[in-house]
Amino acid sequence: MTIPLDSYPDSSLRRPRLRPSVVVQRSEHRMRFLSFADLKEVEFEVRPYVHALIRHLDGETSCEELLATLRRDHGEDVSEEEVLDVVRCLAQHGLLVRGTGIEESEPFLVRQAQFLAELAASRPELPADVGVLQERLSGAEALVLGAGGTGSWVVRALCASGVGTVAVLDPDDVELSNLNRQALYLREDVGSPKVEALVRRCAEFAPATRIRAVRQRVGAAADLVAHLGQADVVVSCADEPSVNAVSDLVAEACEPRGIPHIVGGAYGGHLGIPGTTVLPGRSVCWKCLRHEAERERLASGYEDVLGRTGSAGSIGAITALVANITAWDAIRVLVGMPPALADRVRELDVISLDWRSRPLRSRPGCPCRPA
Ligand SMILES: [Zn+2]
Repeated sequence: MTIPLDSYPDSSLRRPRLRPSVVVQRSEHRMRFLSFADLKEVEFEVRPYVHALIRHLDGETSCEELLATLRRDHGEDVSEEEVLDVVRCLAQHGLLVRGTGIEESEPFLVRQAQFLAELAASRPELPADVGVLQERLSGAEALVLGAGGTGSWVVRALCASGVGTVAVLDPDDVELSNLNRQALYLREDVGSPKVEALVRRCAEFAPATRIRAVRQRVGAAADLVAHLGQADVVVSCADEPSVNAVSDLVAEACEPRGIPHIVGGAYGGHLGIPGTTVLPGRSVCWKCLRHEAERERLASGYEDVLGRTGSAGSIGAITALVANITAWDAIRVLVGMPPALADRVRELDVISLDWRSRPLRSRPGCPCRPA
C-alpha cells in the first residue's frame, strides 16, 4: 500500500524517523528494507552515501542537518534533491513513522503507542498522531454481552487497550469449572457474580477504564437498548438461550441505531469462529448471514434429526484465541480501521490451524449495503 505524502505531518518529513520495526540491509549498490510489523519488503538501488543517511533517520535530525552531515563525510556532490528524494521515497513506501505522540503516552500504554505508530505508518486511513488514535479508544464506549469463555477475554482486551468505558451484562456467578478458560476470575471469586469479580479485577490493572457491569440476562432487544448507553460497538459473547438468539437481539437493537456490532462468534471442540462484524449500512447484516445459512441448509436437502446433545468442551488457550481475535476487530472499529471480520464467515480449525473463510452476500433488496 502506498502512503500518500500529504498524509505525513510536515514535522515528520522535516525530522524523518525510520519505523522501529524496519530492518535495513545493504549490498554494494542496493538497500533492502524489511518491515516485520506489516511484512513489507522494499528494495532500492542507491548511491553509497545513502547507507550512511539511513542511520540519521532518528526523528531528531532535520533534513538540513542530514544534508550537512552527509556533505561533511561524503563530499559536496551529495545532492540535496537526492537526499529529499530518499526521504520522500521511504515515506511513500510507509517506512517512516508518520506521527508523534509516543513520548507523551502514559507508561501503561507506551508499548501500545509504539504499536499504534507502526499501524498508522502503514494505514493511510488512520491519523498520523498516535495521541489521536489513543484518544479514540479512551473516548470510546463498548458494550459486551456475556462475561464467560469469550466475553471475559474481550472485556480484558478492551480494558487493556485503554477503552474509556466498558459496559458488561452477565447473569452468572463464577464457578470453579469456569477457571480453565475464562479470564479475570480467581478461585476466591467462585460463588460471586461474574460482573462483580470482573469489576474488581479490571480496576486493578486498568483503573482508567470505567466499567459499568450489570448482572442481567438479555432476553429481549428492549433489555439491551436500556444498556446501550453511548456504545460505539457492541460485542455479543452470550450464548443463552443460543448464540443465534442473542445475536438476533443485538442486531435488532444496533442496526436501526447504526451501532457497529459483532454478532455470532463461537468456539467448541476443534472449531473457533470469531465474528461476524457488522457495520450497519456498510457491511452484510446479521439477517443476511442468517438467511444465507438457511439457504445453504435448504439447498443441502438435509434437515436436523438430532441436535447437539451437550457441550463440545473447550480449553483456555482456544477460548482466548477466538475471543482476542474478536476483541481485535472491536478495537479496529474503535480506532477507525476496517474490520477484518465483516462480510465473511471465518472458521478456524484449531487442530490444523487452517482457516475456512466464506464470503457473505446481501439478500436482494436488503438495505444493509447500499450500492
Ligand atoms: Zn442485509
